[in-house]
Amino acid sequence: MANGTESEESGGPEEPAGQRAWKLFRSAGRGFWHDVPASDWNDWRWQLHHRIKSVEQLQRLLPTLTPEEYAGTKLANTRLAFGVTPYFFNLIDPADENCPIRRQVIPRIEETHTAPWEMTDPCGEDAHSPVPGLVHRYPDRVLFLVTDRCAAYCRYCTRSRLVSNATGYDFHPHFEQQIDYIRRTPAVRDVLLSGGDPLLFSDDKIEYLLSRLRAIPHVEFLRIGTRIPIFLPQRITPQLCAMLRRYHPLFISVHSNHPRELTTEARDALGRLADAGIPLGNQSVLLRHVNDAAAVMRAHVQKLLMCRVKPYYIYQCDLIAGSAHLRSSVRNGLEIMDALRGHTSGYAVPQYVIDAPGGGGKVPVSPEYVLSRNADRVVIRNYEGRVFEYPETRDGTPSFAAPREIEEPELA
Ligand code: SF4
Repeated sequence: MANGTESEESGGPEEPAGQRAWKLFRSAGRGFWHDVPASDWNDWRWQLHHRIKSVEQLQRLLPTLTPEEYAGTKLANTRLAFGVTPYFFNLIDPADENCPIRRQVIPRIEETHTAPWEMTDPCGEDAHSPVPGLVHRYPDRVLFLVTDRCAAYCRYCTRSRLVSNATGYDFHPHFEQQIDYIRRTPAVRDVLLSGGDPLLFSDDKIEYLLSRLRAIPHVEFLRIGTRIPIFLPQRITPQLCAMLRRYHPLFISVHSNHPRELTTEARDALGRLADAGIPLGNQSVLLRHVNDAAAVMRAHVQKLLMCRVKPYYIYQCDLIAGSAHLRSSVRNGLEIMDALRGHTSGYAVPQYVIDAPGGGGKVPVSPEYVLSRNADRVVIRNYEGRVFEYPETRDGTPSFAAPREIEEPELA
């Protein structure tokens, strides 16, 4: 495994050195852009304008570009555009072909290999779309897709069919139709703004959408899904935060996968959002050679808490076309969850989910803690592997008097 060793995964009161190092907050630095004035570097529009978008730029900035990456980047703009902000690019370790940051944003030729079980719309969103740009799959909440643009493009993106518009999907949100659907559907109490990345819009445009949604009486709860604090923390300005706080209850779901993404810049941006009273949750995707080692994931979830972000979900990588090289196994995901639960704060433990292929929605998957149960008792396992009996209750009366630790499950 690229990012952890057996000894690092053993856990325990002594924190392994690798895990400690990942948890240190460091600045992304200036790298190739050391001559750029601070006023430009810290300007989110400058960062967007200077994104690395072509294979020629990449060759110049990353002399260790591999043939697989070169070929993948040449073809990327016909599938999912290639783009990285200078800030995020500085997190890449040029000496490491398997750098966990590099694997997330630098295209590889494997993206053009599609297995028979892979799909362009693995979550079946288009089939649950009553109006363009709106997904209504669960009873009381909708996904409001507002843009197809992101600050940088994740090579495993579930919405790569529409994001960046490289495949000609023709994504054109119709805000009036989307908002009208929400207005005439009283069951919808929760609206998640996503895309693409909603925080790429100007403050005025975001406020326009939030205020329209807030004016609908049955909308109780607003959420924004974003990777901006990770790709472009400069965008989280005090002005943006002051505007967002007017639309509470508003939650933000961040997307971060590896502890190195949590730089001082990202931590400060997340802090500004938290100071605006916005509860923050994180969604990670389990990715091969990125975060599929328990030590990496443990460092990541602990570091998220230090950024005032609750680890919310770990997603099993969807069956998106061309993502096999980034997909880790469910077995591995379950082992990671086993290494988190009980071994670190409960607040640091996210829910591991698989989005059921074709549109079945999120299904939580978990290591087995209930070993067996019958009418009299439940046999449970704790995080150390010790087994206990808990008496089942009938009309408030336990089925037996003395709950106990047992060697082996003994069910009749
Ligand atoms: S930021 Fe989100 S929507 Fe954009 S490419 Fe990454 S995963 Fe896809």
